[in-house]
Amino acid sequence: MEQPTTARDGLAFYRAVQRGTLEVKASPRATSSLVEPCRLCRHVCETLGHVLNHCRSHASLWHGRHNDIQNRLVGAIATHGTVSVNRKVRGIASNLRPDLVIDTRQPDGSRSRFLIDVTIPMEHVGDARRTQAAFDRARHWKRVKYGPIALLLSASQRTRADALIVGSLGTWDPHNDPVLQQLGLETMLPQLRHALCLRALTWSAHIYARHLAMGKEKKR
Ligand SMILES: [Zn+2]
Repeated sequence: MEQPTTARDGLAFYRAVQRGTLEVKASPRATSSLVEPCRLCRHVCETLGHVLNHCRSHASLWHGRHNDIQNRLVGAIATHGTVSVNRKVRGIASNLRPDLVIDTRQPDGSRSRFLIDVTIPMEHVGDARRTQAAFDRARHWKRVKYGPIALLLSASQRTRADALIVGSLGTWDPHNDPVLQQLGLETMLPQLRHALCLRALTWSAHIYARHLAMGKEKKR
């Protein structure tokens, strides 16, 4: 797997997004007269959201971004419980594979199980309210998706379905905090927030740089 750009490159990319100086348009709401078709897949609008989250030319890099964030989380959880990664849930007749099935011991000694999907939606640049609404929708759909399995499992052990959400541009969803606290990661929260957000951002900077490079290559 290719390595993402450095943290420094990631932060430079972030500043360029905020200034609106990227070669592709940052806002998915930009009018069609301002937005060119994708230089790689010819999708009608080459927005930043398309490049970072939807252009199929970068599917392997999305997986790299997702798995890097997931692996960092798994590393943190490993000291507080057992984790199963991308497997069907044992004892349940369903083909769904949550990213993580985590078993932890709560402070009162009881055990809890969590079904967690790692999700990296695109932010609405410059609009925190719409970004949070997009994060809330993503979390809602993960709870809907795995809710029935969680309900079935709750017959034998308290089980919750939820998500870990980090924006493609490194925005932390504050609703991750109570999830991580219940996983016993409260003291690690500041480091985890920083590490996971930086990973999302550096991988996205890498995807963006790759997009431009592939576009140049295609022109030759
Ligand atoms: Zn494309």
